Amino acid sequence: ARGLVRTYDLGNGFLTKSVPVRAVDGITLKVMPGETLGIVGESGSGKSTLGRMLLGIDPTHQGQMLYDGNPMPRFGTPEWRALRAKMQLIFQDPLAALDRRLTIGAQIGEPLAIHGLVPKTHRHVRVAELMSAVGLREDQAERYPHELSGGQRQRVVIARALASRPKLLVCDEPVSALDVSIQAQVINMLRDLQRDNGIAMVFISHDLKVVRNIADRVAVMYLGRVVEEASSDVIFKAPLHPYTKALVSSVPEPGKKLKGRIILQGEPPNPANRPSGCAFHPRCQLAKEICRSSVPTLQELAPGRTAACHMVTAADQTAAA
Ligand code: SF4
Ligand code: MG
Repeated sequence: ARGLVRTYDLGNGFLTKSVPVRAVDGITLKVMPGETLGIVGESGSGKSTLGRMLLGIDPTHQGQMLYDGNPMPRFGTPEWRALRAKMQLIFQDPLAALDRRLTIGAQIGEPLAIHGLVPKTHRHVRVAELMSAVGLREDQAERYPHELSGGQRQRVVIARALASRPKLLVCDEPVSALDVSIQAQVINMLRDLQRDNGIAMVFISHDLKVVRNIADRVAVMYLGRVVEEASSDVIFKAPLHPYTKALVSSVPEPGKKLKGRIILQGEPPNPANRPSGCAFHPRCQLAKEICRSSVPTLQELAPGRTAACHMVTAADQTAAA
């Protein structure tokens, strides 16, 4: 995905004119088969908007989506629909994604029917296969969503997403609504399925511990822009952007000294009221005059490693490596 720009109209009763807001602005991302790209940032950073745009669900965006090096077909065309089946989205709330009147088995089998993937007589075999892949028992096929736990429901959603053998899976906070004890199980399962099937996965979360566990690469978003991107190891061990440093230092770890913690001050600003220059400057301890006046561009500091900050140079990257 290249240069995605989405402008939002925030209808606000107190304003006579709505304010166009860039929820996601000038983002270029690449995900390879078998790879997981983590997208992190506070709420309101545009992570979810980005996720929807990646699937081309949002027809209003400008910019370019390349799939296997080719531009995505136009929204709504038969070619688009065929490709769309290869891209699946998993949300935080499985109950909202499921139909309460249909059995689990029927819902997992639905994409097989819609996309004509498996002949009707064989559908139950494939459904059983998918259920076992996500750790559900075959006899649960006759159950309804409300008869399952939250974790089991999310497994159903994952099984259904896998039914069309997707090439791209976008997961938006897929475990945030689950008990912490269940989260790790679902994450490990997702990771195994993604690797075994060579799926490119975009994993969106505000929870850095979860992202660290699953992502190969991480892009950090702040107010609709990527401010740093690197391999997961590098992001967590040697972050360079002040915002990434603050995020990473806020992750509690046993034995970690509180002294090194950087406290993020204030709330993320409203996207409708984007600060001048570097949008992070009102909260940045390193902010200088230039940060207020000039927008830092994303610089490639080393292969696969970028950051957008006036105070970060390639020399810092070498020092941190
Ligand atoms: Fe802080 Fe300036 Fe870097 Fe922005 S550009 S993160 S304000 S030092
Ligand atoms: Mg969100």
